[in-house]
Amino acid sequence: MQAGWRIGSIFGIPIYIDSSWLVIITLMTVANGSEFADRWPPVLAFSAGLAMALLLFGSVLLHELGHSLAAQSQGIQVNSITLFIFGGIAAIDRESKTPEEAFQVAIAGPAVSFMLFALLAVVGKILPDVSFFSLLKLLVLDLSRINLVLGLFNLIPGLPLDGGQVLKAAVWKLTGDRFAGVHWAAKTGKALGMTAIALGLFLVFLADDFSGLWIALIGWFAFKNASAYDRFTDLQEALLNIHAEDAMTRAFRVVNADMTLRSFADEYILSDDRLPIYFAASHGRYRGLVQPNDLRMISRSDWENQTVNSIVHPLPELISVTERSSLVEVIKVMEANNLPWITVLSPAGAVSGTIDRGDIVAALGKKLNIPISSAEIKRIKEEGKYPPGFQLGAIADSTEE
Ligand SMILES: [Zn+2]
Repeated sequence: MQAGWRIGSIFGIPIYIDSSWLVIITLMTVANGSEFADRWPPVLAFSAGLAMALLLFGSVLLHELGHSLAAQSQGIQVNSITLFIFGGIAAIDRESKTPEEAFQVAIAGPAVSFMLFALLAVVGKILPDVSFFSLLKLLVLDLSRINLVLGLFNLIPGLPLDGGQVLKAAVWKLTGDRFAGVHWAAKTGKALGMTAIALGLFLVFLADDFSGLWIALIGWFAFKNASAYDRFTDLQEALLNIHAEDAMTRAFRVVNADMTLRSFADEYILSDDRLPIYFAASHGRYRGLVQPNDLRMISRSDWENQTVNSIVHPLPELISVTERSSLVEVIKVMEANNLPWITVLSPAGAVSGTIDRGDIVAALGKKLNIPISSAEIKRIKEEGKYPPGFQLGAIADSTEE
């Protein structure tokens, strides 16, 4: 989530405000202001209400900074912090490498909130309860309580909350399987989200309490996010478990490396309507890749006396993967080198097959039982792009092998 206004940066981390944030700031200013208006003149009451709302988000920002600094200390880049209607999100580049480190990042946010709670509680106690100070005292003590709630609420053990990240780290530590950790934490997150939706709707429809709407909304947000974690992890797991040999196709033609360029042009290039991938072989060995475009560099008069060997790109010079490479590696290499497809080599150094983006999506669909039509696969093969909402480049990038 990076739509919104950039309001500055702290420790090199850009801070953004989402437009939904303005809604909550306005609501909180009005709610706090009307509460204070019982005891103070309206201008002072509503200014205090606005100050309260801003201080709450200052607290959320410090909480997110807690996560961010813990991540930075592990060498993880923090791309942004965004404040929005339900709180804050720190966009962290990748996951921690160990369950212990994942726990540190998860707990750092609530730890900041609890420290603010304690600090503000002490300050609130010290402030005298006279005239202007009594309003300040009220604000400080309110803010202290809010930070306590912020810390406790975030420790509810379900993704996307910090407690869910803690649960993930714990299951990861116990089972040694990071994916098991995410699945557990996502499942409890989904269950908690559904419970909040049910409770919220119950309050609205059976108890006429419209604050239930807010609870239901938060539940829906949590459910949606937990499901996204689950799906993302399924994809990561599948990409790690599918090997190049499971995804590759043999959609290439093998031509004789000793034939003349003339015969190559006549027999293949002029007769194949959609030019496939050509590999040249001779004496039972693969020599390399043949790119029809390279023919242009050789004058036609030489086509009779030069062989395909003269334009071959030897296999060791090609960017390739092995049969046992995971799709994570395949995708990373293809993206890093901007390749439309990649060669898969056998342990003996022969060409086993080739993989393009369509092959990758087809293999994933099969593994995850997602029906993907052959027309869709054909379109991906032709366009050489992953479908929108299926950004495998980014997913592979954030997956550690
Ligand atoms: Zn947090």
